[in-house]
Amino acid sequence: MDKQRDFVLRTIEERGIKFVRLWFTDVVGTLKSVAIAPAEVESAFIEGLGFDGSAIEGLTRSFESDLLAFPDPATFQILPWRAGIDPTARMFCDITTPDGQPAVADPRNVLKRMLEKAADKGFTFYTHPEIEFYLLKSSEYGPNGPEPVDQAGYFDNVPGGTAHDFRRESVRMLEDLGISVEFSHHEAGHGQNEIDLRYADALATADNIMTFRTVVKEVAISQGVYATFMPKPMSNQPGSGMHTHLSLFEGDQNAFYEPGAQYRLSKTGRQFIAGLLTHAPEITAVTNQFVNSYKRLWGGGEAPSFVCWGHNNRSALVRVPMYKPNKGQSSRVEYRGIDSASNPYLSFALLLAAGLKGIEEGYELPPEAEDNVWQLTDSERRALGFNPLPASLDHAIAAMESSELVAETLGEQVFNYSILNKREEWKGYRAEVTPFELKHNLGIL
Ligand code: GLN
Ligand code: MG
Ligand code: MG
Ligand code: MG
Repeated sequence: MDKQRDFVLRTIEERGIKFVRLWFTDVVGTLKSVAIAPAEVESAFIEGLGFDGSAIEGLTRSFESDLLAFPDPATFQILPWRAGIDPTARMFCDITTPDGQPAVADPRNVLKRMLEKAADKGFTFYTHPEIEFYLLKSSEYGPNGPEPVDQAGYFDNVPGGTAHDFRRESVRMLEDLGISVEFSHHEAGHGQNEIDLRYADALATADNIMTFRTVVKEVAISQGVYATFMPKPMSNQPGSGMHTHLSLFEGDQNAFYEPGAQYRLSKTGRQFIAGLLTHAPEITAVTNQFVNSYKRLWGGGEAPSFVCWGHNNRSALVRVPMYKPNKGQSSRVEYRGIDSASNPYLSFALLLAAGLKGIEEGYELPPEAEDNVWQLTDSERRALGFNPLPASLDHAIAAMESSELVAETLGEQVFNYSILNKREEWKGYRAEVTPFELKHNLGIL
């Protein structure tokens, strides 16, 4: 029995753990959980736990429904909100077929495959997400839409406000779960908050984001409020993005760092950005996977709408943040398109694939955007080559459908499933009569 498994079994015994939850994620990014008794953990490590994959979104085709979940002992943690009576722990799982092959549609496996490709080229991929979300009084809403818990704004200190205790409690729980938090603050929208996780390798970050969503929802429930990661819950407030800072390391060297270069950004870093920009429209149906995601991208509130990069330019899709001398080789690029409701495994796999493509093919980085790109006219933007991101889920699916890069990275099964699933969503939305139409048309037509 290897050391990590041994540690898990010992901890279960010493801490009197009563339930062990096995976690994995479906293709849409929903967390799945099955609780097993402590006595079953050892056999789950060795033989896996069988389940019906066809009941999980996108995981199998119906004729190959049996799957196994193998818990990853490195992810063992006691759940802080279940630490008292009947303490409960969790582990993330890798999913395999009955003959032990990694399940092609397991999002964790999609990311692992891509990370291995990067490793073959000598790169480790690090990510640092800034996760935005809203705190609402409840998930119910009336004619005026959802009701946020406060009327505060960016960096506001809200004395006695719900959101204040809320962040302290969430950060404490995340730290208890071994997830380091770098910053947390009130965001620009009423009831909107942001918590930034410290950078970690992309697989750990994706696991951490899944845990984060659960923690934030649990803390909200315990405080009688509702937390949502919906990309744009209110038309008149900013959306919730999940800006993610990306870097590649070669051993302990940051491959994006070059002391004498502009913005201390190496050629590798520039090519990586060029890859992100070239393939951004194709990957958007995954990084921004809902009809509602496009209300964020096109609804202002500092969400990016045009494909361009800039140094410290918050209107650009990719931002090269200011260099911080006391942070050593901290060169990195911030991808601002992705939203808080995306599947982090699939999104990170695609961001990495796009960036690596830029390096492999030696893409040229176009000139940076120096202006506020939202304030330029359409023809100015066209002249500068700043193309729009897809205008809707429909456009995003079309861009994805013809993408070799996305098909190859996601694998045939996830690719086909996602397109079908998203087409269904679009078809439903297209046929819906919205409050906008009633407001503008009913009284006069
Ligand atoms: N909420 C904005 C978005 O959706 C980001 C705001 C910010 O962090 N500057 O991308
Ligand atoms: Mg931020
Ligand atoms: Mg923010
Ligand atoms: Mg940011």
